Amino acid sequence: MIKYNWVCNQCSNVNQAGTDICTTCGCSAYAPPDEIDARKDPSGYELRSFRALLDKKVIAFCYTPVFIVVFAFNGNLLALMLVVLSIASLVITEFDFVKFIFKDKWAKKSFAGYSVSMLLLFLVRVTATNEVIVNTVIALILVYLLAMSYYLFKSQASEEFLSRYYKHHKENVN
Ligand SMILES: [Zn+2]
Repeated sequence: MIKYNWVCNQCSNVNQAGTDICTTCGCSAYAPPDEIDARKDPSGYELRSFRALLDKKVIAFCYTPVFIVVFAFNGNLLALMLVVLSIASLVITEFDFVKFIFKDKWAKKSFAGYSVSMLLLFLVRVTATNEVIVNTVIALILVYLLAMSYYLFKSQASEEFLSRYYKHHKENVN
């Protein structure tokens, strides 16, 4: 029991001493911030949790860019093979997500543009013998990876894509 008057974190109602449940909204005085968040804005909270889950998935596949960077620097075909393998494992483990990417216009266009540009850069990197060209391609690959990660994690378009994927995910679960 709380021995003083307290303000509810959820609805801001002032509650009398001697109770730990808000008389207006029923929220506990000890409710963790997460729970308050969930009660205040249930769909927003679900979307944020979902995004966190998805970000973890994406981060799990961050070794793809790592191999791309290794390949950019040493031009080693083994690194390129690891790029292909990590993408293949992404397709297998996240098949539902990959399928959605191909159904979504924005994602499909972005993915196609990214793959084609990267492939071209890879081709030039493998075949180039001129040092200036090699260094230019390395710089381009790095800039491209950075721009892409910004595009994927921070842009308005990626937020909208996430909402669409979330909706699709919910419809398929229920
Ligand atoms: Zn309350």
